[in-house]
Amino acid sequence: MIDTHCHIDFEEFDHDRSEVIKRAQKCLDNVIVSGYSNDSNMKALQLSKDYEGFIYPTFGFHPVSSQNASEEDIKIAHNNIKKYLDDIVAVGEVGMDYFYVTDKTLRERQQEIFKGFLELANEYNVPIVMHVRDCEKKAVNIIPEYEDIPYFVFHCYGGSLKTAKKIMNMDNCVMSFSTMLCYSKHHQDLIEKIDLDYVLTETDSPYLAMTKEERNEPINVTKTVAKIAEIKNMDINEVNEITTANARKIFKI
Ligand SMILES: [Zn+2]
Repeated sequence: MIDTHCHIDFEEFDHDRSEVIKRAQKCLDNVIVSGYSNDSNMKALQLSKDYEGFIYPTFGFHPVSSQNASEEDIKIAHNNIKKYLDDIVAVGEVGMDYFYVTDKTLRERQQEIFKGFLELANEYNVPIVMHVRDCEKKAVNIIPEYEDIPYFVFHCYGGSLKTAKKIMNMDNCVMSFSTMLCYSKHHQDLIEKIDLDYVLTETDSPYLAMTKEERNEPINVTKTVAKIAEIKNMDINEVNEITTANARKIFKI
């Protein structure tokens, strides 16, 4: 089982990070830590060095903070992606968030930055992990321009079923489902109709725990897999096999 997207570099884990990772190591094959900012990218890299072969990093810049990022910040992120190309398993998380970003000019800025990362991933043939919220259709229309990106991951997919069907028609796109599946009816309805060949599992820790007060952690990806099995009326092992194989293929881990 693989948690393909989490943020265990965050300070929420500063007091017990090694315990959290130890718990994950007991049940999971791998954990992918998704870089959120220039600092976070470096922390994800360090974790991948400390837990070699278990933790893998991706380097990105979160879309909500990217709207206010300076040219210099984005340049640093680009340079680090190039510098650590052999260490990272994808570019991300990057993308567009129309839920939090409502101003037109800021949305344009966000999209411009997103396209910069897409160009980079395209140039170096690296998969891309995307945070796309309330603008899934827009992203689906943009990404076919980047023919040399091997895989596109819609992290925490929450768009419509119609857009999900479009995503399944592009054979290098997948949707990642988190622990949110355990309590979100919309996500449960989606997964029921989405072919597992297009599915990855994640937690997005520390976010999206079962309750708002709780802190999520990678081992909880087991709950995501169990929920998928329950909804699809399949064996947990079978769901695990398919989704883990998808992750291995996409991230080459
Ligand atoms: Zn995330």
